Amino acid sequence: MLEGILSKNLLSSLSQNFDKLSHAYLFVSPDEVYNFMYAKYLSLILLCEKKTGCQECSNCMKVLAKTNSDLNIYPNGKSVLVEDIESIIEKSQEKPMFGDKKIFIVKSIDNATFQAQNKLLKTLEEPPKNVIFLLTATNENKILPTIISRVRKEYLQKLDKTLIEQLITNPPEIFKDVIPANRKYIPNELKQAVNSGDGYPGKTLEFLNSSTFLTMFSTAQDIATKFMLSKELSSYSEKVVKFKDEIKLFLSLLQNVFEELLKTSNNKEGYCHIILQINKSNLELDRNVNINLIIDNLLMKILEIKYNYKI
Ligand SMILES: [Zn+2]
Repeated sequence: MLEGILSKNLLSSLSQNFDKLSHAYLFVSPDEVYNFMYAKYLSLILLCEKKTGCQECSNCMKVLAKTNSDLNIYPNGKSVLVEDIESIIEKSQEKPMFGDKKIFIVKSIDNATFQAQNKLLKTLEEPPKNVIFLLTATNENKILPTIISRVRKEYLQKLDKTLIEQLITNPPEIFKDVIPANRKYIPNELKQAVNSGDGYPGKTLEFLNSSTFLTMFSTAQDIATKFMLSKELSSYSEKVVKFKDEIKLFLSLLQNVFEELLKTSNNKEGYCHIILQINKSNLELDRNVNINLIIDNLLMKILEIKYNYKI
């Protein structure tokens, strides 16, 4: 099951020339949790005695038990700070303890300050021997171009939905930090969450963790398929504003619902306009514009586009 996570490119470069690995990688996808899972699983393979991520050899067991000091995960707090980079530089000078490599996973490097990124850059320019850096990011535009030019960049592909369902219902030990074990899911809810998660495990988990997910889902579907009259606007608006603590999650769900409709529709232009409007509302939320106003405007636009394009 686990092999399905890594890209075919990376798998083939791992099997062909293990010794010619890059000293630094950057994994990019919109899903922070997925990025981390990818880097963590790759670390397991790189540190494994058999180079397969067997989960049985002593190095793998240490990774699973979090006692393998050849694997270092940053940041310690919420985002990467200069102190984290200083600690990385110091530790990267030490020899590997158990195997032939030391791995540094640096999560969400795009959220690090430029000062911290600059400090890391110096290490990437003159990488210590036997050290591999695995950086992750959701927005590569926030990374110094000089860092990007020093790493092998890989855009992570969406995962197969069946694989995500397997990972969530039967989480491998390597992902115990991110996927809760022994949790029972309502089958319908799981199915909807996997579908709405759209190939991203973190997003899927976010839906499953939301207590109002199913209500959100049916509201989004109603807006997409039933909402036709301007006199219904205020009642829909009221329903949506109830999700105000999870409004970003709701908008992403609404977007998925329209994207699904787009796939099967002959009238693609209208749906594209609606999806653009949802994106616009998302940006407005980032700027802290009044939430009621944003939702009212969005619903009004959706209605207008539906009318103009007869969808
Ligand atoms: Zn192993």
